[in-house]
Amino acid sequence: EPGLYIVATPIGNLGDITLRAISILRGAEAVACEDTRVTGRLMQHLGLKKRLIRHDDHADERARGGLLDLAADAPVALVSDAGTPLISDPGYRLVHEARARGLNVVTVPGPSAVVAGLAIAGLPTDRFLFAGFLPQKAKARADVLAELAGIRSSLVFYETAPRLVAALEAIGQALPGRTIAVGRELTKMHEECRSGMAGELAAHYTAHPPRGEIVLMIGPPVAEAAEDIDIDALLAEALTTDKPS
Ligand code: SAM
Repeated sequence: EPGLYIVATPIGNLGDITLRAISILRGAEAVACEDTRVTGRLMQHLGLKKRLIRHDDHADERARGGLLDLAADAPVALVSDAGTPLISDPGYRLVHEARARGLNVVTVPGPSAVVAGLAIAGLPTDRFLFAGFLPQKAKARADVLAELAGIRSSLVFYETAPRLVAALEAIGQALPGRTIAVGRELTKMHEECRSGMAGELAAHYTAHPPRGEIVLMIGPPVAEAAEDIDIDALLAEALTTDKPS
């Protein structure tokens, strides 16, 4: 069926491609991608030869229009270099405009590092806020962390190995006392998930500089939870005192 198919691809382990992703890619008229070499390798691994069209959110109106014209008549797949398109990856404008045109937009879900990390971190997952990449500059990073500090949920960021220690130190300052988990090289040979306090982890990764790809996760504020318990206790006490004896 014609339309725009948003296809998730592996985040490091080729075995994680879904059966449906393979079948959609096989049937696609064209595959829009971030880097034709990266997607070319995936297609080669799958034994598929397809027209690859480089696309990102900076593409001009005309290039995007061309892809959407194509999707109006035939199935067009959108993939990113790894994981789920649109999640800290290009595709937002394309999907937005495809929907505005009334095209068929179909999700073909699969791996995403944010979910893969949360699934093994051992942090509460009932509420989480994914905030993409932290800013690189110290001031901007501190501002974002200060803004998120009061949010009562786990926080998830994408981070790069060279910036991990600086990020952990900034988190230690802005969100003291919270449990941190670092998910690294998920689904790959050297998958690791390490948790602790910001200071402990900063010390560890200073001594053992990390390599590879990283999801940085922060548990919810503990002080706030304790305050809740206090309020409940106070309320219970108040109610008990009011009861006629
Ligand atoms: N769209 C992708 C997804 O759904 O996960 C994310 C793309 S974003 C440009 C790339 C970032 O995702 C990396 O810098 C890293 O923070 C995170 N990431 C991707 N693969 C990962 C992996 N195997 N292990 C840990 N983090 C990963």
